[in-house]
Amino acid sequence: MALCEMCGKESQLVLAEVEGGELNVCPGCLKYGTRKKNVNSGMNKSIPGKKFAKIERTEFKVVNNYSSLIRSARESKDMKQEDFAKFLNEKESILTKWESGSLKPRLDVARRLERVLGIRLVERDVVGKVEKQEKQKAAAEFTLGDFIKTRKRK
Ligand SMILES: [Zn+2]
Repeated sequence: MALCEMCGKESQLVLAEVEGGELNVCPGCLKYGTRKKNVNSGMNKSIPGKKFAKIERTEFKVVNNYSSLIRSARESKDMKQEDFAKFLNEKESILTKWESGSLKPRLDVARRLERVLGIRLVERDVVGKVEKQEKQKAAAEFTLGDFIKTRKRK
């Protein structure tokens, strides 16, 4: 028990913010201020350290076989280059270059073509990581196959 810093009454005190200052007040005087959260519970000490955002540069690129993909998308719609170009809102000369492989669509254009045509034209550029992933996958499959064989023998 302690004395309320506002009225002087002996009571179980609560830390409250009163007019910008902190006072230990009795429950009766609490209405004159705002109750402060218990600051000495130790919770504040365990604020999680700033998590360092894992910076992963994900690069995307237009697939190498974009020309055949665009051409086959057009052929599947049974369209002439002229009509297809209009359909895509592109110049026919541009489309001709795409289909001949002499011009690679820009990434944003390729993204739009993907949506319009429902094909994949953009892939994640993961050069250097692919080999490792495939090795891991192969190893996992082998282990699983091994496991099944072992089970069958029993
Ligand atoms: Zn009081």
